[in-house]
Amino acid sequence: MKNYNKTRIIYVGKVPVGGNHPVSVQSMTNTDTRDIHATIAQIRRLIEAGCEIIRVAVPDMDAANAISVIKNAISIPIIADIHFDWRLAIKSIEKGADAIRINPGNIGGYEKLQKVVQKAKEFYIPIRVGVNSGSLEKDIREKYGVTPEGLVESALRNVAMIVDMGYENLKISLKSSDVLTTIKAYRLISQKTDFPLHLGVTEAGGLVPGTVKSSVALGSLLMDGIGDTMRVSLTRDPEEEIYVGYEILRATGLRKRGPEIISCPTCGRCEINLFNLADEIEKRVKTIKVPLKLAVMGCVVNGPGEAREADLGVAGGKGIGIIFKGEKILKKVSEENLINEFWEEVQKLIDEKESNNK
Ligand code: SF4
Repeated sequence: MKNYNKTRIIYVGKVPVGGNHPVSVQSMTNTDTRDIHATIAQIRRLIEAGCEIIRVAVPDMDAANAISVIKNAISIPIIADIHFDWRLAIKSIEKGADAIRINPGNIGGYEKLQKVVQKAKEFYIPIRVGVNSGSLEKDIREKYGVTPEGLVESALRNVAMIVDMGYENLKISLKSSDVLTTIKAYRLISQKTDFPLHLGVTEAGGLVPGTVKSSVALGSLLMDGIGDTMRVSLTRDPEEEIYVGYEILRATGLRKRGPEIISCPTCGRCEINLFNLADEIEKRVKTIKVPLKLAVMGCVVNGPGEAREADLGVAGGKGIGIIFKGEKILKKVSEENLINEFWEEVQKLIDEKESNNK
């Protein structure tokens, strides 16, 4: 599927990024990295949600030192996010970071970059060259303005510098908060390089605007076969970033994780509180990994029809709910018991699917 612009393969810890490997979903903690317990707890919640690679901010030496303890307590690779201070990059690598993210333009000049690259080489960990529209080099800004061409030029220049230093274990990100700039920049760079690409829209916003921007940008690129790993950035709990990431991958037909819920928008025919029911079901399925299709419908007009395509469905009646499995009505239950009864059926179905897979 994902072979339109085949990239080379790198490894972030044990996670392959590039080639025909599945697009991995990553996030970034928003705890203080120095608060080891809070950071580990958040990463564990993110892993439950499906996070495959985690990035942590490294603003000072204490944060860099915390990496080894955090790494030992989690099961996914950890990336150190570094700005400005090359010494933090060196320390993070020594402390076991599985990759680092730097903007070579703000790490303190050629010699310092060389030291960082040397250290990455010694530990053979990938460097993400992260360029963003807010920090383009002056000459590039003057020549191209803050444009997709400028972002691409800056990334390629920085990558070439590291390649010249003898290191090619790299991936690239081009971040802009503008959706169209993001799409154009990645399309352009994918024609010019085969390094793996990390997709994301930066400062995308809260849940609704951030989800829409990321879906349009990442969705378009993924449909073009561009992108090897991704982060949806939201002004929200990072777990939401993971859920949105998987929904984008599901919608683009690239990956599935956990249940898909089809629910109707409701209309004048709906006689139960469907919003509550749909929200509650959505909440409960979040940590389930088995792919299922669940239909949550307001009435029997479309309910049973949709439920036929789903593994399990519920449709509202007058103060009651009808639970369907395929063509069969399993039960009719009062509205108060609907969530629990439906959930019981979901659990049974999961058990069935899991035992069939054994
Ligand atoms: S399933 Fe029923 S309640 Fe929902 S939108 Fe369709 S007709 Fe309306």
